[in-house]
Amino acid sequence: MLIVPERLIAELVSPADAFAAIEACFAAMARGEAYNFPVVREALGEGRQYGFKSGLDRAGSRLGVKAGGYFPANLARGIINHQSSVFLFDPETGRPLAMVGGNLLTALRTAAASAISIDRLARKDARVLGMVGAGHQAGFQLRAAARVRKFKRVVAWNLHPEMLPKLGAIAAELGLPFEPVSLAELGTHADVIITITSSDKASLMDAHVKPGTHLACMGTDTVGKQEVEPALLARATMFTDEVAQAISIGEAQHAVMAGLISAADIAPLGDVLIGRHPGRTSDTEITVFDGTGVGLQDLAVAGVAVLRAKERGLGITVDV
Ligand code: NAD
Repeated sequence: MLIVPERLIAELVSPADAFAAIEACFAAMARGEAYNFPVVREALGEGRQYGFKSGLDRAGSRLGVKAGGYFPANLARGIINHQSSVFLFDPETGRPLAMVGGNLLTALRTAAASAISIDRLARKDARVLGMVGAGHQAGFQLRAAARVRKFKRVVAWNLHPEMLPKLGAIAAELGLPFEPVSLAELGTHADVIITITSSDKASLMDAHVKPGTHLACMGTDTVGKQEVEPALLARATMFTDEVAQAISIGEAQHAVMAGLISAADIAPLGDVLIGRHPGRTSDTEITVFDGTGVGLQDLAVAGVAVLRAKERGLGITVDV
């Protein structure tokens, strides 16, 4: 079994690698060649969450699990709050193949999913990016979005405004003017909005968002989290990574519970990738990608890390 430690991931997997791997993963899901197993997520107390996301990708010959969670006291210890590791197994024999550090991979695969949705669903003439959230994932989201559209500026809102300068520094690195704004201003200006917060109630309201906007709602990945008003989802054309997750742990859980939409109103983004769904059909349509984060995404980027590590003779081989 190969161990690919966290410290090697940055040199092994690029945002472009993650984008290609997640596109292939969503397409395999749409073709029925790959499927996710039910998510296990447990509260450990003191705000700690732990869980397992797993699946089988026959097309990519990948079987595995990401074990990880959220540990709010970590920042005080000098490590990030989200901690995870990915384990890959041989789908034919069940033998362990690899253990891969999952922290950077999670950020890369989450940002790639959002960027794929922007690439496929946002208006081609989108010029203003709106960021709701400024935590650990937000910078990865911003960088990935900037790869797929020629944005001219970034407008941003965060519940904790003191976190915005760090995101502003990333925008500056990308050569993009950055302006902290109210949510109403953000919705007025933004052609694409990414929400990436750990909020438990809606911040972005239906009235904030103008026709033609694409939203990548990426923060809600657990029962009880919420970033946008359910009425906005009812007005939008809805896409997701996996419908079963969207209606149970994604942003759509609230609109479904309120009876505003049902599973049948949500299409997998993979359907757009394989040409089964037309995606956006007008410049005034609002499109929403409800990105809940599926296990197959983790296996896909971990697979890239293992491949690259083997090519370059990196990582640690152990007997198990
Ligand atoms: P973080 O702890 O670094 O940042 C949290 C962000 O949420 C900050 O911007 C903070 O100001 C904001 N926030 C906190 N409480 C809020 C509230 N009540 N209302 C509005 N905003 C609030 O977290 P992170 O690592 O950046 O992750 C952000 C979210 O993305 C988390 O919910 C995480 O679980 C989720 N996530 C989703 C995926 C996926 O695949 N969809 C993957 C990774 C992380």
